[in-house]
Amino acid sequence: MVEPDLKCPVCTAGNLESGSDELDVPHFGKVVHYYMRCNSCGYRINDFAFQGDFPKEDKVEIKNKTDLQIKIVRGSNGTVLVPELGLELYPGPLAETFITNVEGLLNRFLNLMPLFDDQKKIEEVQENVRKAIEGKLKITISISDPSGVSHFIKNPQTDIS
Ligand SMILES: [Zn+2]
Repeated sequence: MVEPDLKCPVCTAGNLESGSDELDVPHFGKVVHYYMRCNSCGYRINDFAFQGDFPKEDKVEIKNKTDLQIKIVRGSNGTVLVPELGLELYPGPLAETFITNVEGLLNRFLNLMPLFDDQKKIEEVQENVRKAIEGKLKITISISDPSGVSHFIKNPQTDIS
């Protein structure tokens, strides 16, 4: 589709064409790719938007060491909560997209811990997180993500490479 009102920022020709296509990215669902292309000089503007088709809310119970292998895909709009440990990860401008397993997620929280103020509370939470990493503490992990990108991969055998 030619955009009659827009001019190319490089060559200023009014010859910009816009369109979109979809890419399938493993474990992240569909990515919609929007682009504009200048038919005069070939300049391109690209934009990407994730459009997952996973449930907007899900949770898993971690009861033993095997459950620690459950994988988590966290998109930048995902909220991750572990109520038993008081751990919360919210979306924000710096929110990271990552794939890890439960053990990796708990280690991530351990690394973030020094950011909190209350030293006594930190030690208490760290102690509990370590117990959870050893599979000695039952926890629930919930994720919610309005974009449908974040989700659990509950079969530990699933290859994420
Ligand atoms: Zn141009």
